[in-house]
Parts: sequence; C-alpha cells; structure tokens
Amino acid sequence: MFNDLEAALKHFFGYDSFRVGQRKIIEEALNNHDLLVIMPTGGGKSLCFQLPALLKPGLTIVVSPLIALMKDQVDALQDNGIGATFLNSTLDYSQERSRKQAILAGKIKLLYVAPERLLTEKFRAFLSQINHSLGCNAIAIDEAHCVSEWGHDFRPEYRQLQRLRSQFPQTPIFAFTATATKRVQEDIIQQLGLRNPHVHLSSFNRPNLYYEVKLKEKNSYYQLLQSIRQESGSGIVYCLSRRRVEEIAFKLKHDGIDALPYHAGLEAEVRTYNQTRFLRDDVRIIVATIAFGMGINKPDVRFVFHYDLPRSLENFYQESGRAGRDGGTAKSILLFGSGDLKKVNYLIEKKPDINEQRIARQQLNQVVDYAEGTVCRRTIILRYFGEKFSGNCGKCDNCLEPKPIEDWTIEAQKFLSCMARCRERFGMNHLIDVLRGSRNKKVQQYGHHLVSTYGIGKETSVDEWKMLVRSLLHQGLISETNDGYRILRFNKRSWEIMRKEREVLVAVSNKKLSKDNNKYNPRQAEAEILYEKLKILRKQIADLQSVPPYVIFADSSLKSMSHIQPKNEAEFSKISGVNNHKLQQYGDKFLSVIQEFMRSQQLPKPLPSKSQMATLQLHQQGLNLEEIADQRGFAMSTICNHLGELLEMNQPVALNQLVKPERQKAIIEAIFKHGDQSLKILKEALGEYYSYDEIKLVRGWWRSQHNN
Ligand code: ADP
Ligand code: ZN
Repeated sequence: MFNDLEAALKHFFGYDSFRVGQRKIIEEALNNHDLLVIMPTGGGKSLCFQLPALLKPGLTIVVSPLIALMKDQVDALQDNGIGATFLNSTLDYSQERSRKQAILAGKIKLLYVAPERLLTEKFRAFLSQINHSLGCNAIAIDEAHCVSEWGHDFRPEYRQLQRLRSQFPQTPIFAFTATATKRVQEDIIQQLGLRNPHVHLSSFNRPNLYYEVKLKEKNSYYQLLQSIRQESGSGIVYCLSRRRVEEIAFKLKHDGIDALPYHAGLEAEVRTYNQTRFLRDDVRIIVATIAFGMGINKPDVRFVFHYDLPRSLENFYQESGRAGRDGGTAKSILLFGSGDLKKVNYLIEKKPDINEQRIARQQLNQVVDYAEGTVCRRTIILRYFGEKFSGNCGKCDNCLEPKPIEDWTIEAQKFLSCMARCRERFGMNHLIDVLRGSRNKKVQQYGHHLVSTYGIGKETSVDEWKMLVRSLLHQGLISETNDGYRILRFNKRSWEIMRKEREVLVAVSNKKLSKDNNKYNPRQAEAEILYEKLKILRKQIADLQSVPPYVIFADSSLKSMSHIQPKNEAEFSKISGVNNHKLQQYGDKFLSVIQEFMRSQQLPKPLPSKSQMATLQLHQQGLNLEEIADQRGFAMSTICNHLGELLEMNQPVALNQLVKPERQKAIIEAIFKHGDQSLKILKEALGEYYSYDEIKLVRGWWRSQHNN
C-alpha cells in the first residue's frame, strides 16, 4: 500500500522523518523478530510498535503498566484516526463488551492491556478467540524493566508474562525500556523468554536538551522566579522535600505564576487532579518531589528546574529527561549551592548503615562532578552511562560559555599554609576567616589572629576563596574528614603544591552577563504572537474533547504553522504532525485563525517609537517594571504607558508577568461593563486594590484584540 516507510509514517502520524533508530527497529519488527529496545525517554519507542501494527494484518497487543498512560496513548492514536483501544479495570461491563466486539470485528489494530488482566482465565479465552479469528501479529511490552527485580520498578505480575510465549508461540515479542543496565537487559530477555532477540541500545544522548548549571544565589527563590519568567511553556520544578514543594508552589502562585504542588504526602485525588491540570495545560508549572515522574507522559514539558540537588546522576538524568520528549528544544537547569551540599552531607551522615553512607556519598560526588564540571556537561552525563562522547555539544552552558581557566597556585599555597598554621583542625569557613583577617570570636578564641597567615588573603573575596577550596577538593588536591565537621587535611598532592611541584588551575565561574540573544526581531515576534493564538485554539479544542492539548498537535507543529503560515489545505497538510485525519478534523479551524491573523498584520498599524522599543527590549530581557524604570530613568507610570501602548500595537509584551491573570479577568470584566474609553471610570469601578498602571496594561491588550 505504501511505497516506503516514510509515506506510511506521514499517512498515519503526519511526521516527515524517523528519529534515530526507529526505522531499523520497525523493519525488524515487520520481519517478525523478537526485539529488545533500550531507548531513552522521549526517544520515540511507541512508534516502533505502533507503525508495524498498522502495516501488518491482525492485532497487536500492547502490555502497559499504568492505566493513565494507556488512556493517553490511545487518545493520541484515536486522534490520528487510528483504531486503538484499551481494556482495563476502569471500564464497566457494557463498555468492555462493545470494545471486545469492535476488536473481533477487526476495527482495532492496537489493544492496550494491563499485565494482570492479560493473565486471567477469561481474558486468555478472549485472546484465543482473537488468535483464531484475526491473528495476533505482535506483543509489545512497554516498560519491560518492570519484569526485573534489578530494575527500579519491579512488578511481580510482569513475571507471569512468560505465559504469553506458550499461548502465542508464533507471535514475535517486542520489549521496550529506558533503563540501561546490563543486568536488567539480561533479565528481560530471560524472564520474557525472548528468542534470539535483536537488541537495540540507543545512545542516551538527548540532543534537544540544553543543560545548564547556575550557582545558587543568596535569594534563590527570586533567582528561580526570574528564571521561570524567562521561559515559556510548561515546566517542572523538582525539590527534595514536601515542605519545600509546598513553599515554592505557594510563593510562585503568589507571584503570579500558575503553579501546583505534587508530592507523596498529598491525597491521591489531589495528586491526580494536579497532574491532570498540568497535562491539560490548565496550569503551567508543577513543583514536585521525585514522586512526580513515573506515570506522567507529557511530551511538551519545555523545562525542568532542579531547585535542590538531585540524589544521583541517574535521578538527575531521568528527571531532566522529562523535558522535551516531543523532540522540541527544552532545558534542564540545575541550581547548585554549596549550602545544599552541606545539607545532603548531613543527611548522609545520619544514615545508620556505613555501606549505605558510602553509596550515597559516591552518588553525591557524581552529582557534584556534574555541577562543578567545566567540561561539556553531556560528556559527564554520558560517561556515567558508559558512553564516550566527543564533547563540544554546543548545547550546554560549558560549551557555549567556556569558563576561563586561571592559575591560582599562589592563593592555594596561602590557603595551605593557613591550614598548616591552624594545625589541620578546621573547616573551610574558619580558615577563610583567618586568611581574611576576621575579628570574629572563634578566631580570637583559638589565637588565630596571631598566626603568620592572619589577614594575608584580604584582597581575595570570601566567594573566591570558597570557589578555590571547592576546586581543590574537587580535584583531589586536599582532603576532608567524613565525620560531619569537614575538617580539611593535607594529602600527597597538597604537599606537592607547597613544594612548588604542582600548579593549581581553577575554572573560574564568571558572573554571567545578561546574554544578548534577546534582540528584537519583528518577524520572530509576529510568529510568536500567532503561536500564542494557535495555542489558545488548540486548548479550546482539547478541552472540548477532554484530552491534553498535545494530543491535538505537538508544540513543534504549532511552531511551524506560526512560521510558515499556511494559506490553504495543501500547505497545511505539509506541516509535520498533520496527517489526513487531522487535516479533515482541524484544518479549517487552524487555517481560519492563521488567515485572520495575517489579515490583521496587513492593516496599517502605528509602529512603536524608539523609546517604546527600548522599554520593550529591557522587558524582554526579563527586567521588572522597577528595574526598567530605573535603567531608563523614567517613572514607573511612563514605563507602564509604553508597555500598554506596545500591547495595543500587538508587540510581544508578557502581560501575565505584569498583571496576574485573575486580576486581568476582573479588569476585562470592568471594560466589558464600562467600555475602554475612560481610565478614571474603570479605576472607580474596580476600586482601590487595582492601580491605574494595571488597568492601562490590560486595556492595551484588550484593545489589540478588539481593534482589528
Ligand atoms: P518514549 O516512549 O520513548 O519516551 P514516545 O514514544 O512517547 O517516547 O515519543 C515521544 C514523543 O515523540 C511523542 O510525542 C511522539 O509522538 C513523538 N515522536 C515519536 N517519533 C517521532 C518522529 N519520527 N517524528 C516526530 N515526532 C515523533
Ligand atoms: Zn556541551
């Protein structure tokens, strides 16, 4: 029916090309080989069994452990016009019967089931019926690592799956997992009884992820807030404790960012509710402990923040990997503070078991290696998975802004002599106090104001000293005790430094200057406005169908629509992610929003003045109103006038950052009642809790929506 696999891919899924590895796996699946596929999250595993299912006669059975995920996958398939369904405990008797009828009538190509159901007598009888009438062309087992006790999510019912082999001796079995260890791989092959399976081990590199580590500033919440304000789309903020999750979610909400908490201490219904709101794009940010992750399959998460140190590099990889599963650009940002390090160390020391302590410490060191590393971050991550990566990825902070390496040998010698004078009995902070000539009590008490190194390090700041000491520790040039006091000690290499046999090179973390990548580009700005409009339409359609917005179209499809601005169905159907079914269902609606937008762009419009543009640029760099006013030497009200007028001219001003959505709503309601002519009337109607500035901003936006 299809000339090539690419044509089939476009027909069923609307995609133009395969992701790395997919084609080969699909070809082997079509040749009925048993398969073991190890691919990182977001690699596109599902397609590897979905496309063959559609190209072969008969039915493919998909075993999937989580009911919520099943429904998502089936929704997405159905929205592509593909016959898919699931059978699980959420269905009542009549639903189950009608689905079974549809299956036996050959209307279904993919049947999703939970493992426990698959093994009941009744269901086995149904399977036999399928096997005799339609034939079962493959069994795909998702999250196959659940079969192994060595994996992180062992499920005893997976063990029973080997019985499938005897019931369907001729049917190929495909096993899929994102877990990499050899032990688990062997277990999967053995437990599921795979026959000479072809093993596909993909690289764990996630090329669409940008990795960055930011040094935690004093007011780390504010730093987080500012960073989130600069991002768009959905994001996850990971914290270590439930308390912190609650606190950050609360503060973000207070600062006008849509955020909900998620942790194991919440009632199950609250968790499900918050998760669904996130999936459906009703809320932009989830603040979560690591309890959030397994079982969430939101492909359009655009950024993941680690507000606290992750437990291990494996955890970090899996958690940050939840960003960008749809292949679009996404970010992983780790906020790294030495205070956190202390906290984690303290927790480790509290562990009763020495062996556990050792493992935890080793895992922590790997995280610190990553965070303090000055080489390409991908190299560090992939080395952890046993992969060699040549570095220079061009998509991490270290590659984009290499830190300058400086010679700090003299400072290191000063520090070491100070350690020696204080007889290797103290930790970093005290030694820095001595070097910087502090008058604090502890220094006096030990008589350290009398040692010869007292005050010889005044010209180096506390932060710089800390950076040096961390780097010395990190490079193994000094040691520290593990007794909780972190007393610094000489080792062989420290002596080499003292004897001038070894130099000390330190990668200096430079204060990041605000990057210049926010230059105003009218064409880009136009596409962004259209993108926002298309997102609104997508959300409306999704809500009507009770599915998450990504089921309708991926972010990347909306992005291409906003750039290409298709004028007719033929052009629309060329967009990646649009197949015939989607064209029929949604083509009209999206085309008409695009047309209307293009018409509005052609109307003569006033252009922003130079001064307004200057304000806009600062706004886009993430400065708040006060900071802009400060920098420009204008009153805040003038800046608000600018932004209000810019909004009216349809310029990309982030209104949600300036006025909280619920306040916008109140103002818009007032405009509906009283018209937009008089600010004074609006102010009187709204009362003292609303400022003229807010009203001006919202009115600007309102006018942009209603004047053309
Ligand atoms: P995994 O199970 O490996 O984590 P999925 O199968 O959920 O990944 O795929 C992740 C996302 O990538 C999904 O939204 C899917 O539709 C999309 N995707 C998969 N293959 C392609 C492709 N060839 N082109 C574009 N998008 C794809
Ligand atoms: Zn890199």
